[in-house]
Amino acid sequence: MPNLLEAYKTPEFCLAAVQYDGMALMDVPNTLKTPEVCLAAVQQNGFALEYVPKALKTPELCLAAVQNDGEALMYVPKAFKTSEICIVAVQQTNSAFEYVPKALKTPELCLIAVRKHVSAFAFVPSSLKTLEICLAAVQQNGQALQDVPEKLKTPKLCLTAVCHGGGGLRYVPKVIKEVIKRQDYILDGSDIPLWGQNCVLRLLPGRFHAKLTGDTLQLRLPYPADQVCCIRALNRVCNTLLLKRARFLVADWSRTLGIAVPKLHIEDMRHWGRCYFRAGRVSLAAELIWLPPKVLEYIVVHELVHFLVNNHNTRFWAILDQHLPDWRQWDNLLNNYHNHFALSRRFRVGFNTAIRIIEQIEQMEQRHHRQGSACHEKRNS
Ligand SMILES: [Zn+2]
Repeated sequence: MPNLLEAYKTPEFCLAAVQYDGMALMDVPNTLKTPEVCLAAVQQNGFALEYVPKALKTPELCLAAVQNDGEALMYVPKAFKTSEICIVAVQQTNSAFEYVPKALKTPELCLIAVRKHVSAFAFVPSSLKTLEICLAAVQQNGQALQDVPEKLKTPKLCLTAVCHGGGGLRYVPKVIKEVIKRQDYILDGSDIPLWGQNCVLRLLPGRFHAKLTGDTLQLRLPYPADQVCCIRALNRVCNTLLLKRARFLVADWSRTLGIAVPKLHIEDMRHWGRCYFRAGRVSLAAELIWLPPKVLEYIVVHELVHFLVNNHNTRFWAILDQHLPDWRQWDNLLNNYHNHFALSRRFRVGFNTAIRIIEQIEQMEQRHHRQGSACHEKRNS
């Protein structure tokens, strides 16, 4: 159009031109910039808002522009920048966030922008950074951890960052690294000592589903699954596995001992097993799933014998000796287990998993640094 003779610049021609390419508005003579032409231009390309005369910039026109391209927010007059138009712009493209006035940056708007793309995180004022916003950022790219205020760098947030690439480990404070190393976390590839044997946990996104094949426990969880969600799901799966085996043992041994089959419960409790002989119920500790099946059998038999003798007198041990001559071996193992692992109420899994994973990541990062290829997130625009 710039090369076109002025004579050809008619209202109809200009309208057709901006409908084809909104940016053609820059060559439309001001006298022919009607509201209709301007609207058509910004609807085709939001950036055409730059060439709309000030007098014709209405809130509706600005809205149409940012609906087409959120970044057109940079040409919206200050007076029309409301939180509504800012939300529309940021939802259209996260890079619009940069043009949102500070006064309109609410935690909600920041969260929308960061969820849309991690690059908006750098434009979130420190005072508005909440744990939720930081988490949304590091879940997309661990490198965002560098813009997380120190006071919000919790072990959970740091671990999430480390697990989501981008070299987040560099920005994990030393003391937090120590905390992470001390804790047991469940991650894809964790060792789970199921029935006293190492089993590898495979975490996959999907609808909740668990499958145990050989030495692999496959667990599908809705993504993203945080630690609490993983631990709950794993507890659920383990309790089901334990209950299945325990039910069979209880039925079998009740028959052998000539007692009525009691009710069975799996619980988080201080004892390995408990017999409520008046209520006709046996409770078993959820942790029994981590130990060899023989240990579970010993606890089951021990508790069932209590239906015959409700204390630990010589008759009790004599019955136990008669039915399960090697029970001392399993009793010792339980005591050692207590000493070695200082069993707490908390879920414990793969004792050194976190350390191993962090060390692996550290090695990977060192290799990465040696290769000298710094990776930076590309801005999405
Ligand atoms: Zn007992």
